[in-house]
Amino acid sequence: MDLSDAQSIVVVGGGQAGAQAAFSLRQGGYKYKLTILCDEAHLPYQRPPLSKAYLKGELDGERLFLKPANWYSQNNVELKFGSRAVTIDRSTNTVQCEDGFRIRYDALILATGSKPRKLKVAGSNLKHIYELRGIEDTDLLKKVALPEKRLLIVGAGYIGLEVAATARKLGLDVTVIEMAERVLERVTAPIMSAFFTRVHQQNGVKILTNTTLSHFEGHCGDVSMAVLADGSKIPCDLVLVGIGIIPNTELASDAGIACNNGITVDRNTRTNDPRVFAVGDNTNRPLVHYGRKGRLESVHNAIEQGKLAASAILGSNRPVEDCPWFWSDQYDVKLQIAGLSQGYDEYVVRGNDQSAKFAVFYFRNGRLISTDAINSPAEFLVSKKLIISGVNVVSSKFEDTSKPMKEILNNYTI
Ligand code: FAD
Repeated sequence: MDLSDAQSIVVVGGGQAGAQAAFSLRQGGYKYKLTILCDEAHLPYQRPPLSKAYLKGELDGERLFLKPANWYSQNNVELKFGSRAVTIDRSTNTVQCEDGFRIRYDALILATGSKPRKLKVAGSNLKHIYELRGIEDTDLLKKVALPEKRLLIVGAGYIGLEVAATARKLGLDVTVIEMAERVLERVTAPIMSAFFTRVHQQNGVKILTNTTLSHFEGHCGDVSMAVLADGSKIPCDLVLVGIGIIPNTELASDAGIACNNGITVDRNTRTNDPRVFAVGDNTNRPLVHYGRKGRLESVHNAIEQGKLAASAILGSNRPVEDCPWFWSDQYDVKLQIAGLSQGYDEYVVRGNDQSAKFAVFYFRNGRLISTDAINSPAEFLVSKKLIISGVNVVSSKFEDTSKPMKEILNNYTI
């Protein structure tokens, strides 16, 4: 369907992906009505600092915003704050908001993001049990994250570990509990889990893996104790729950738009309705370098899909997909991840994993599929190129630190 003459484009969700779609539409020359509906009360903002510099108090709230307020007025983008879209009527091409506002669209972009998975154990409603998704969540945590407070973190994924690192800098006493055998189990190899466990332990974090939470106990309504499945108890003043996210797909699925662990989209972010696009954390998208579909939870994905949606609507040149990438900052460790390591059949380590600078390269069927680079930007950048190219590589060459990454790259025609 050609939408290049669309007179009204509506974006639901003003996060990283929705905002990018709006930026790219205006940049691409779209002149007509452009509306962003967002249930949050803020200008579109970046979330990564929420568990890092902003939580630490090293970054002003203003610096979270993707663009200043006047960009939206100057570019004639209507931002409707506090406007929660509740239904899509695809027969009349309209979106209805909770506050009664109704708007017609010629093209609709669903950028509703995701929400934190909830703990379902007894006592989860006690005071001082937090989650981290938005500015308000961080502001609440910041107020109580005072030196000497005992913070229990449930879940050793990226958010849990980043908050652990930040909390240690703030002087809290931190314990992390994780159900799986090791930290970051879902996303990385045992060697990387061992590295992060060691870094956290060296910084005074207690990490308990193979550990299941049974319930919380409280005192005068405040959480005071986590009780584990084996009956042991961890006293705590604060709890942060970081056990993953769930894509916000209800709006789409209620309207009959196909969803399967995310809103199903094609390479151009189009759903099964040719007027409706979906971008960001809420999508299940083709992973072109991996020959399968999947859901990505990253800034890179949100930006890329925002651009893809804009180009699909405008009928302009589409950007070429990059390989998925992600980063995480903990203490002085900058982890950069290129690609997706799931399904690897071999990995090699470049450098000394006992040091603070090394990389793990993951291969499948003789091809590089992912790299975890610790304080190693060259390893990260070269990996992205090799993953995109899909060339067959010789894994042992990556171990040879006497050869710079550039030289390794030059072995291949890409
Ligand atoms: P969001 O940014 O969540 O935006 C969705 C917006 O839509 C929200 O404002 C939501 O309230 C709104 N919305 C939802 N439903 C409706 C509705 N019905 N009507 C109106 N509005 C609605 N990624 C990295 O790559 N590196 C990092 O280091 C990193 N760190 C992170 C740290 C934290 C604490 C968090 C929470 C995330 C982090 N991420 C990181 C992930 C990254 O921020 C997300 O992948 C990205 O924000 C996804 O963008 P999005 O636009 O899809 O969703």
